[in-house]
Amino acid sequence: MIIVPEREIADLMTREAAFEAVEKVFAAMAAGDAYNFPVVREAIGHEDALYGFKGGFDQAGLTLGLKAGGYWPNNLEKRDIINHQSTVFLFDPDTGKAKAMVGGNLLTALRTAAASSVSIKHLARKDAKVLGMVGAGHQATFQLRAALEQRKFEKVIGWNYHPEMLPNIEKVAKEAGVPFEAVELDSMAEADVIISITSSFDATLMADHVGAGCHVACMGTDTKGKQEVEAALLQKATVFTDEVAQSISIGEAQHAISEGLITEGDVHQIGAVINGTHPGRTSDDEITLFDGTGVGLQDLAVAASVVDLAVEQGRAIEVDF
Ligand code: NAD
Repeated sequence: MIIVPEREIADLMTREAAFEAVEKVFAAMAAGDAYNFPVVREAIGHEDALYGFKGGFDQAGLTLGLKAGGYWPNNLEKRDIINHQSTVFLFDPDTGKAKAMVGGNLLTALRTAAASSVSIKHLARKDAKVLGMVGAGHQATFQLRAALEQRKFEKVIGWNYHPEMLPNIEKVAKEAGVPFEAVELDSMAEADVIISITSSFDATLMADHVGAGCHVACMGTDTKGKQEVEAALLQKATVFTDEVAQSISIGEAQHAISEGLITEGDVHQIGAVINGTHPGRTSDDEITLFDGTGVGLQDLAVAASVVDLAVEQGRAIEVDF
């Protein structure tokens, strides 16, 4: 069995490898070659922790396994370790034997950023120039860094519920050599691409804040009750997602569905666009929206990729198991 500890991931994994792994597995999901297992998420009644499993099997990539982990709200204060903790376990699909154990914390941020980047590649206008960010927390920095590689963006505009956090994303934009401007939400109408990545439970980005032709990647809503954008925006947009079942139950589409504004049939898999079985964006005025809920197969795909890199570079720890 191969072990890739969390401390090794930053040196091994690249944004390019994460992008490639996620794009491939989204395509496999839409082709029916890969599927996610039902998600388990439990409040365990200890340390206020939420713990669960996300797993799946990709028959095309022969990747089988699960990500186990969750959220321990007291970690930072009590133990000086981050609150989100996860580990990916991969199994040999031919034998069921455990194949690898991989640190999942940084991989989660990289695979989530890769998902919105895949949506930008396939759905944003080619001439997109202004990138809007709603959110400035931990994930937002990864999202912005990856998105800037997808188009020749000339400006980043940002809004955050806690404005004091905006320097987090300003730093990333500046490092990439792109000017940054803090704006009010109604100025998001200027953006050609908007990424929303917050832990909000109420819509902050309204349908009127989004201009014609924009691509919106909604990346924060991954639980029942969370919401980042007004449900009416999904009615106005062509809606895509990683996994339809998750989008309508725990993703951004849960609200538009429950309000009767759209139906399940209005939500399309991004993998179908990658595979060419859905046309994706069909005009420059169309608003496209990607509801990125986060699927187990994404975690397995990036974990398998980092295991390959660790083996190639002679940095994998092998144990008899
Ligand atoms: P974080 O705590 O570092 O940042 C939270 C962000 O949400 C900040 O920008 C904060 O200002 C904003 N926020 C907090 N309360 C808000 C409110 N009431 N209204 C509007 N904005 C508010 O968290 P993070 O690690 O950056 O994660 C952000 C979100 O992304 C979380 O909801 C997390 O569950 C989700 N997430 C999704 C995926 C996925 O695959 N879709 C993966 C990882 C994380």
